Amino acid sequence: VDASEDLKTPKIRENKLDVQQVYQKERGDGKEHLYMVVIGHVDAGKSTLMGRLLCDLGQVNQRIMHKYEQESRKLGKQSFMYAWVLDETGEERNRGITMDVGRFQFETDTKIVTILDAPGHKDFIPNMISGAGQADVALLVVDATRGEFETGFDAGGQTREHGLLVRSLGVSQVAVAVNKLDTVAWSQERFNEIVAKLKAFLKQVGFKDTDVTFVPCSGLTGQNLVSKPTETELISWYDGSCLLDVIDKFRSPERPVNKPFRLSIDDIFKGTGTAFCVSGRIETGCLTVGDKILVCPNRESAIVKSLAIDEAPQAVVFAGDQATATLSGIEMQNVSVGNVLCDPTSPVQVASQFQARIVVFNVTVPITKGFPVVLHHQSLVEPVVVSKLISQLNKSTGEVLKKHPRFLGNNTSAIVEIKVSRPIALELYSECKELGRVMLRVGGVTIAAGLITKIIL
Ligand code: GDP
Repeated sequence: VDASEDLKTPKIRENKLDVQQVYQKERGDGKEHLYMVVIGHVDAGKSTLMGRLLCDLGQVNQRIMHKYEQESRKLGKQSFMYAWVLDETGEERNRGITMDVGRFQFETDTKIVTILDAPGHKDFIPNMISGAGQADVALLVVDATRGEFETGFDAGGQTREHGLLVRSLGVSQVAVAVNKLDTVAWSQERFNEIVAKLKAFLKQVGFKDTDVTFVPCSGLTGQNLVSKPTETELISWYDGSCLLDVIDKFRSPERPVNKPFRLSIDDIFKGTGTAFCVSGRIETGCLTVGDKILVCPNRESAIVKSLAIDEAPQAVVFAGDQATATLSGIEMQNVSVGNVLCDPTSPVQVASQFQARIVVFNVTVPITKGFPVVLHHQSLVEPVVVSKLISQLNKSTGEVLKKHPRFLGNNTSAIVEIKVSRPIALELYSECKELGRVMLRVGGVTIAAGLITKIIL
């Protein structure tokens, strides 16, 4: 029996209800949802910090924490106990040991925050890439230890690359955790030195000063994460907000519930009977049970049999929700990860050639015309070619520096044309932020990221 049949589906389209009003009615009194990506150099302390934050907020079962504490003590590596919270193997999750942390979510006074691609210990870097495309805001973690900040920030470090990456994908707000301050005796000079360097860099890549907040903290000791600091030395010079309050004060992004419906599929699985399910984030609009939808780029139609968020049946889901839809009237093999579900009366664009404004980093060989790369667009991974170098731009002002450059090296901003071997579903960034962001990778390394500015055909 389909549980959602019992739910009252608001007849939004039949009765021409105002979506914004329905949304307010359904969600108005709830907390706002925020998606946060955690970035930073390897070993900056991302896992430890997020694990500790989740523990201190009571998101992790006491019994599990006790187990980690004992196991890590046995190994003589007690400092690992928090990182383990985010480092569960699939097997342990299947056994239900960490059910309580499986979702990596926590709440502030006004928000429910989902950590995208929670920094699992080893494979955090490749994972970060897919999460960044959905992020509303970023938490940048840097290691304040003498020498370590410099390693992460200077050539070859990931601090700059990650900062540039999230900014070129349209993320505009960032909290910087100046972490491991315990290793420098909570030195204000060290904090200020790091702040000065990062401020200049973040400004240069396009973050506004007012959208960047620096928080001195220690993930390991838990200092200044979820409550005011207690370390005498730190209190002597810092009376700002703790990390949790800084996250609470992020401006919530608007949820475009009034725009045409779009969902990009990140998973497909079998349901009961002949039906099957797709899941993904609703980028824009809303979806109700019974709706007819179009699956693009193939433009096949299907009917929504039921909807759920975290296995709880829903009558309607809105932009910003990570939802699962059971579909009928379409064959499972005709639907792929990376496809976009949309409103048939106002479908998503389908094209195999487009222009994007990108920022280039990490290339060992400069990008030239005909350069083959791998396009990442939400969950879609597709081989493409950089078919034209249209212009090179001033990174800060966007003004054209050079038309038809011969090549693009590191740290350049440019407009390029991209050719895909088959049509894909996409949108202009100006129309739909989420479906207008792209990343280009070569051999597993992100070499450019940017925004779709023109759809050609
Ligand atoms: P990640 O690679 O960014 O996820 O970093 P981890 O969380 O794995 O931490 C890397 C190392 O730094 C581990 O040995 C941690 O125990 C240590 N560490 C993390 N946070 C702190 C901190 O606040 N203070 C100190 N002293 N060590 C830390």
